[in-house]
Amino acid sequence: MKVLVVGNGGREHALAWKLLQSPQVESCICIPGNGGTAGLKGCQNIAVSVDDFDSIARIAQERGIDLVVVGPEFPLSVGITDRLQRDKIKVFGPTQAGAQIEASKSWAKALMEEAGVPTAKSATFTEAEAAKTYIAQQGAPIVVKADGLAAGKGVIVAATVEEAQAAIDTLFREGFTKLIVEEYLLGEEVSVLALTDGFTVRSLLPAQDHKRIGEGDTGSNTGGMGAYAPAPIATPELMQQIEQDILKPTVEALRRRGIDYRGVLYAGLMISPQGEPKVLEFNCRFGDPETQAILPLLETPLDELLFACTEQRLADFPPLRWKAGSAVCVVMASAGYPGAYEKGIAIAGIDKAEASGAIVFHAGTKLQNRQLVTDGGRVLGVTATGDTFADAIDRVYQAVDCIEFAGKYYRRDIGYRVRK
Ligand code: ATP
Repeated sequence: MKVLVVGNGGREHALAWKLLQSPQVESCICIPGNGGTAGLKGCQNIAVSVDDFDSIARIAQERGIDLVVVGPEFPLSVGITDRLQRDKIKVFGPTQAGAQIEASKSWAKALMEEAGVPTAKSATFTEAEAAKTYIAQQGAPIVVKADGLAAGKGVIVAATVEEAQAAIDTLFREGFTKLIVEEYLLGEEVSVLALTDGFTVRSLLPAQDHKRIGEGDTGSNTGGMGAYAPAPIATPELMQQIEQDILKPTVEALRRRGIDYRGVLYAGLMISPQGEPKVLEFNCRFGDPETQAILPLLETPLDELLFACTEQRLADFPPLRWKAGSAVCVVMASAGYPGAYEKGIAIAGIDKAEASGAIVFHAGTKLQNRQLVTDGGRVLGVTATGDTFADAIDRVYQAVDCIEFAGKYYRRDIGYRVRK
């Protein structure tokens, strides 16, 4: 079987790596891929843009691709699945209509209301004055969110009314035309990535991300600086509640709207101090870096699972099998990230890190004259597994210490909540 993975991050490296472990997967194409996927046995990168759907469809047909797996939200939100399905190509990832669950927060909020899914109280605004009046009435802390895709930069958690009102002006000035103002929720966050064929839902192990750049969860938001799985806060009982009260009703509501959703339904949840889950956001794709912590624990062949989703056979699919133990992923970033950073810096020591038993997923890397160099803000995601979180954390940092590039930055406290 031949698969094609769309995207160029650590998530896509992890997807290609896992797919290629399946005995049935003979080869993988990554579009465009990165320095890591270029080095994977059985994998070939093709330099085509993720939104060049005609070229992707042509390559899939010419190469006899059996399944396309779409990593990032952007191509999903502009209809890659619809386009490929027109040519009868099997795709794992929702259609443009389904991807609105991530691409429009106001659309997702309306869907949640319709489905009776617990989420923060909110109101949608297209005009600054009305939003500011609402904020003054509600008081702070309060959260302001841009409606469209903003790569994690469209959310302001404001401690004061003034800060929230200033955020309204900033986001409208930046060109967003619709904003959401949302109740501030207190608690601990967890990511539950579920796979669905539009009818049945199967959750993967729960994971926890570390979004802030600084240790102790301080500083700017990033794409994610590290993750671990399985997150102990999501006990089996809580996972059952999340499936019953959140994931299943959401998939049913999508279906009632006539949306054929086959892909990842990722719920970003806040668990209140009383243990009640509420949805902060939905994403329509695998999380990055959560995927780099979750997939190393998955024993079920990933291709079989993704096929079952695209062919609507998930109800008959056997229970997912997982390795015992824990996985921790630490992201190594370029100096300056999430702000400006340099590219093209030589990277060394990956072999040594891998020899220690860790898996090194590439995010922003490329091969330049046979030398691996940095090519993005988040450069590598190093994952280690262990019997306990303490084991996995020790191993992952041993591996991280083997890797060198000028200006490397990483958080030293990934997994601090679960280290015993
Ligand atoms: P992502 O990068 O995960 O796609 P996003 O820009 O789509 O992020 P959200 O996940 O909705 O945005 O919010 C980003 C972060 O802001 C959350 O992970 C959470 O820490 C914080 N946040 C969002 N909504 C709330 C809320 N209602 N109460 C408290 N914190 C919140």
